[in-house]
Amino acid sequence: MPVVTIERKVLEKNDGYAARNREALRRNDVFSFNLVSSPGSGKTSLLEKTLGQLAGKLKVAVIEGDIQTDIDAQRVAKFGVPAIQIVTNGGCHLDAQLVNEAMSRLDLSALDLLIIENVGNLVCPANFDLGEAIKVVVVSVTEGEEKPLKYPAMFHRASVLIINKIDLAPYVSCKVQDLKENALRINPLLTVFETSCTTEVGLADWTNWLIFQSLNFRVDPDKRSELLTELRPC
Ligand code: MG
Ligand code: ZN
Repeated sequence: MPVVTIERKVLEKNDGYAARNREALRRNDVFSFNLVSSPGSGKTSLLEKTLGQLAGKLKVAVIEGDIQTDIDAQRVAKFGVPAIQIVTNGGCHLDAQLVNEAMSRLDLSALDLLIIENVGNLVCPANFDLGEAIKVVVVSVTEGEEKPLKYPAMFHRASVLIINKIDLAPYVSCKVQDLKENALRINPLLTVFETSCTTEVGLADWTNWLIFQSLNFRVDPDKRSELLTELRPC
């Protein structure tokens, strides 16, 4: 079956780059997440809100993956963070080699957190490890309660689920509890946040969680205490 062989080779090559990326992030004490969702879930708006809340608390860089255009990288760069755009020219996912090239343009030693915004797609990004610490999957309430059941691989591999546009739930008759239960049935270890970029509900919980994950990722005790003093109790 030559098709199977080619696919396996592609993934093996990808995993080699992913291991290198992960090692470089670990060596520099940089926590990272791969942000995945369907198109239109509000991923980039959520990213903008996240960057706003992390300003002055964590040193962040963003790698933006899009099929065409650098609109998202421009939106992110307004927050004064290093933003590298990967345009996949029709490709429906990021791979670890592309991310490796983007990472080579960043000073990892100056960062606490690297955010990789993947192409809007819940299918193949599940198979491509980029070397990130965790995957964060975003689903908006407008997508319906069944999303996790339709794309189980992504929910299985994610560590965090963000249920976004939570303010719209009453208008689209989305049963948020059902959406959450469907996701937890596939992956009981998911940490779940409910957010709205309009009302800002849930954003502080999410960003505080991120700050503590970034802090706990550090192995260098000097850097740990340095970051601790930057933290404000909330
Ligand atoms: Mg984008
Ligand atoms: Zn793809």
